[in-house]
Amino acid sequence: MSQLQIENLVKVYGTSRVLHGINLDVADKEFVVFVGPSGCGKSTTLRMIAGLEHISGGKILIGDRVINKVPPGKRDIAMVFQNYALYPHMTVRENMAFCLEQRRAKASEVRAKVNEAAEVLRITDLLERRPSQLSGGQRQRVAMGRAIVRNPHVFLFDEPLSNLDAKLRVQMRSEIKRLHRIIPTTTIYVTHDQTEAMTMADRVVVMNGGYIEQVGAPLELYENPKSTFVAGFIGSPPMNLLPAQLVGSAEAPGISLENGSSLPMASEGGKSVWAATKDKSIIFGIRPEAISISPEDEAMVPFDVVIEEVEPLGIETIIYFNIGEASASARIPPHVHVNPGDALKLYADMSRARYFDSNTQRAIEV
Ligand code: ADP
Ligand code: MG
Repeated sequence: MSQLQIENLVKVYGTSRVLHGINLDVADKEFVVFVGPSGCGKSTTLRMIAGLEHISGGKILIGDRVINKVPPGKRDIAMVFQNYALYPHMTVRENMAFCLEQRRAKASEVRAKVNEAAEVLRITDLLERRPSQLSGGQRQRVAMGRAIVRNPHVFLFDEPLSNLDAKLRVQMRSEIKRLHRIIPTTTIYVTHDQTEAMTMADRVVVMNGGYIEQVGAPLELYENPKSTFVAGFIGSPPMNLLPAQLVGSAEAPGISLENGSSLPMASEGGKSVWAATKDKSIIFGIRPEAISISPEDEAMVPFDVVIEEVEPLGIETIIYFNIGEASASARIPPHVHVNPGDALKLYADMSRARYFDSNTQRAIEV
């Protein structure tokens, strides 16, 4: 049974509709990440699940109970925010104990629960400190501790790592995953950071402008984005999305890019793309790692570029170039020395190409 169900959820603020009827089932103990650009409706959705925001339309169920009208305190949900919202005058222990004490739990039980959560989070030696005596990462742990002691049915996280520096973010990412392994609890985690989504989620929900674009396991989204939005959002650098025209014939299909390059299509996909396209104008999608500086096999077809920018990252180098109006990138080995202005022959692995309808921006199934 799914633990959390969202049915046709709508949010309207005054005259503006910010959520357009979203649907999602979250399985028991699943870790789901909502990702999307700022303003796409992630926090609004989370706040509606938590009961902090009125539901304009649709339903939210936990287990088989509709919770639309259940007050936040009775939803059995714990939420962790970006700003930790700890009480500054209380110690860590008091902060973590507070909501249990509010519920009039026995002192011995409160103590045991706080100690247990502190141990899991490795903050036992901080229990008598005040928030001002903690680092950002430690405060975030306390905020999670406060959520854990309540033993909720659902955890909600709203950009909990956004205030931390890059290194600490990576560390806390694996801490939260570890926590989910030790205390498997249904979790919805919101972030604008696709790396966080990819590395943490069982399933990723990509949101855009109040709609769900796609739901899937991280690699599923990476390999088979259903729209140009998902293709351009997941991955860093993202998938190259290049306007193109179909050329040749249904039997020998190819594409022509805006810089004049013609690339034959791989035979499996080519026919179905040809059949699915009316006006012959498409968007050619290819990941930067599916482009190479040398042809490794016959699926790799050449095209010419002039390098605009070079980014040596140590483990690899990313080169940027333009195809017509579109900017594109490729990952090349670090020892290859190239400079902006260099003309270069690159090879696209057409067996890894994706195609999108240029009108609907939806993927063409091949
Ligand atoms: P996200 O968390 O994905 O960045 P939000 O859910 O906070 O986005 O916001 C979604 C949209 O709803 C945005 O366009 C935002 O401006 C709007 N919005 C959020 N809260 C309010 C509010 N209280 N009143 C009016 N509009 C709001
Ligand atoms: Mg938000």
